[in-house]
Amino acid sequence: MLTVAIATEFDDYDAEVSRVLLEQALARSVVRWQTSIRFNGDKSVKKLAPLYVRRALAEGVRHFLFTIDNDGGQRRRPQHAPEHDEIAEAADERDGCRWCWISRAAQVDSPAVRCIAVPVQTMETWLLVARGEALSPSPEQCYHRPTLKKRFFGTPLPATDVRTRLAVDVIRQPHALHALRGLRSFQLFEAQLGIEGWRG
Ligand SMILES: [Zn+2]
Repeated sequence: MLTVAIATEFDDYDAEVSRVLLEQALARSVVRWQTSIRFNGDKSVKKLAPLYVRRALAEGVRHFLFTIDNDGGQRRRPQHAPEHDEIAEAADERDGCRWCWISRAAQVDSPAVRCIAVPVQTMETWLLVARGEALSPSPEQCYHRPTLKKRFFGTPLPATDVRTRLAVDVIRQPHALHALRGLRSFQLFEAQLGIEGWRG
């Protein structure tokens, strides 16, 4: 059982979906570190990240996951690439890379390890792909966020607990990981988990 400090835009839905995604990717049980710090939106994650990290480290937590939606398709906010100038990207609040944006705020020192997940547009992009839906040319390019949410959950949108259950059920399907691995945004997420701190 691995305890992970999981910082996401909303504590109920996003955090649980992120936890199960991590669990599936690592093939080991993950529990979320419990704290009184609550998040409400991407800006709150960035603002509270240093405090969140400090408090978790003080309580012995050594694993961190930060999940932020990219909210920009591929026209704004490019997907992260190793050659990014993190400071410059992070400084561009409107159009810069969201991976760099949260990375600047969410530094953790060794021996702690950190992973950042940035689904393109929104988490529902990953959920639709995990469910095996063929979205052509790409959900990351041509769908608005509300469209993605409605397509996954239907209308009206169910309550948070129902959405969480539906999402988690899809992620746990046998072929979900395989489908997700075709997405560059998911590859970026999973590549960070190959190091010893996560696998050991
Ligand atoms: Zn970047």
